[in-house]
Parts: sequence; C-alpha cells; structure tokens
Amino acid sequence: MEIYVHIPFCVRKCRYCDFYSVPCGKDPAFGCPGTGSEHTLPGTGDYVNALLKELDAREDEIRGKEITSVFVGGGTPTILPVSDLEMLLMGLKDGIARRGGMLAGDAEITTECNPGTLDKEKLTLMRQLGVNRLSIGLQSADNAELKALGRIHTYEEFLKNYEEARRVGFDNINVDLMSGIPGQTAASCERTLNTVAALAPEHISVYSLILEEGTPLYDDVEAGKVRLQGEDFDRDMYKLTGQILAAHGYERYEISNYARPGRRCRHNMGYWTGEEYLGLGPAAASYLGCEKMCRYKNTADLNAYMSDPAGVRVLEETLDKEALMSEFMILRLRLTEGADRDEFKKRFGVPMDEVFGSVIKKQTGLGLLTDREHSVALTSKGFDVANSVMCEFL
Ligand code: SF4
Repeated sequence: MEIYVHIPFCVRKCRYCDFYSVPCGKDPAFGCPGTGSEHTLPGTGDYVNALLKELDAREDEIRGKEITSVFVGGGTPTILPVSDLEMLLMGLKDGIARRGGMLAGDAEITTECNPGTLDKEKLTLMRQLGVNRLSIGLQSADNAELKALGRIHTYEEFLKNYEEARRVGFDNINVDLMSGIPGQTAASCERTLNTVAALAPEHISVYSLILEEGTPLYDDVEAGKVRLQGEDFDRDMYKLTGQILAAHGYERYEISNYARPGRRCRHNMGYWTGEEYLGLGPAAASYLGCEKMCRYKNTADLNAYMSDPAGVRVLEETLDKEALMSEFMILRLRLTEGADRDEFKKRFGVPMDEVFGSVIKKQTGLGLLTDREHSVALTSKGFDVANSVMCEFL
C-alpha cells in the first residue's frame, strides 16, 4: 500500500494552477510560515495534527499492510516550518506503526519541494528523518517563462536548492518541467532540457501546460492578452523532449516521465499498476479494496477538514470487474512496457484478447498500438494521441 499526504499551502497561486491549495498569506487562519518574508501564524502545526488524526482514524485500512511508499505532495510541503515538517515526518512513521502497518525498510519516501521555500535546515532535517527522494518543481530554466507562469522563484534559486540537496546527501531527485509555457520557443525548451539534464537528476517529468478554467492564465488567454502555442507546438516539444533526454541517458518509461536506469518513481508506478493507496488531507484521493475496489476523495475544503479530518471522505466510485479491466488497459498503456497479457489473465481470469481483441486489432491497424507476443503497447505515434487511444478501452 502507498500513502499520499497533501499539504494544501502555497506562498501564492501560480497563474495556471487549479490544484487544491491555499495561498497562505491570504487565509487568516494560516500564515505564510517559513518563507522568511511574511509573518508566521500558528495553523500549519494544527494542520499537521489534523493529518495525523486522519491517519489514526484509518486503522482498519493500514493494519497488516506493508507501506512501500509515502509521498508528501501539495501544494508546497516545504512551506512548512522545520518544526512542523519534523512533526509530520515523525508522526507519519509513528502513526503507521501504531495502527499496525509496517513501513517497508526500503520504502520510497518523497517530499515535493518548491524553490523559494527550501533551505539547508529543511533539507538536512528531511534527510535525517528518512526522506530519500525529492521532487522539485522547477518548470523552466528561463526566468521570463517562470514569470509568465507566476512561479515564486528563479532558475538560480532552484540551482542553489538543488546543489544544497546534493550536498546534504539526496541521491534521488526528480525535477518537474513544463512545455507549452506562454512565450516558450523550441530553442528555450531545448535550453531548459539541456540545462537540467546536465545537472543529472535521477528523474525528470515533463508535462505540457493544461489551460484550466478559472485560473488567471485562462482569463488572459480568453481576453486575448496571452497566446498559447497550440497542439502542433506541443507535439513537436514532446518529440524534442524524448530526443534530448534520451541523448542524456534518460529512458521514457511513461507518457510524461523519464528516468535514469533503476530510478523510476515507485510511488507513481504504484498508481499505474493498480496498487492500493491511502490519501490524507483535503482533496486527497484514495484507492482501496472494498467489496470490489473503491475510489474515495476527501472534500476539498480546508476548514471542513480541520473540523473533522476523518469525516470528509466521500465514496466516488466502486469499480467492478469490467471497470477494473478497462482501467488496467488505460493505466498500463501509459507505460512504455504496455499491458501484459499474462498478468491480465491472472488478474481477471479471462484472456485480454477475449475482452479487448477488436480494439487492439483496430488500434494496431492504425499504427497506434504495437501488438507484441506477450503485451500490447503504444507506438510512438500512439503516444502522441494517447488519450484518444485509451478512450477506446472504456
Ligand atoms: S506551487 Fe504548485 S500547487 Fe502551488 S500554486 Fe504553484 S503549481 Fe499550484
């Protein structure tokens, strides 16, 4: 089983972001702790206590389980002051053990970080408390692009944090990048990829910008103040990304994820291979065994969560065998290995081709899938239009 912990605070909202996070300087209940510039209000400590309360309440789900991965994401987890980070990381370990779970000896423990909220003290503490992977949100090495996104940091601040993380002993680091940023060109995208790859992080994720309704960027695009490059540019950047990162020794193992050998993100691999996961915090999702498999979501409301951390979870979906078979295909096709026929048969007791034979044949005929003896996978043409291929398996 995997555990995801949501820290829903950011210094301020990035212009494109629709994740559930609170710009903490604007919420009277929560200050802007640890960023050095603003005030410190109590509140994040109370929030960590609420998370640990929710963990305690999930005893039935944790008891007897081996926890193979913990991912502290956000939001901006590293906005927490050192004392709260310490309380959280120690509390998670204690809470898992107290509720009868077992944190695997080689568990992957990741913290998401944003430059501008990191320093040597936090990095050292995380390392000492067992965090063994960092995921740093950079997005671009071009400061004008960072500004267009409304990020709070510059490339130079990222670099300082990255080098500090190496110095305190982190040997497994992911860097998040983005393509399709307003003002980005093929040349600037190439520069970012080469600059970051030259630092040799173990893992790089490259997502294309998605314009989300309700964000300031969406309004600017609607008003004609900002122009996005469009699908052709996206496709070209996707190809360019694959080529540049391959030349630097990174393997694309999932649609948007690239790793050095042996450095795939185990937590995300769990999502794509159907592992159970427990999500803690407002807006966190869980995927747990019930009479079938159940998907839950905590309400995206910080105040409601603070009043009753264990009471805001809502059942979203119960997946029966048919839904699980579709989900198996859709999630596995995200991976370059694709969907394994033997595993499908073992899991569902029926051959993959008996259920999806005609879809596989059609998509193979279109050159979007490759039909290997033991598995089915997207071709490079298929990766370009992955969403439409996956829809065929619904
Ligand atoms: S730091 Fe991440 S979660 Fe926070 S506003 Fe920016 S994109 Fe959203």
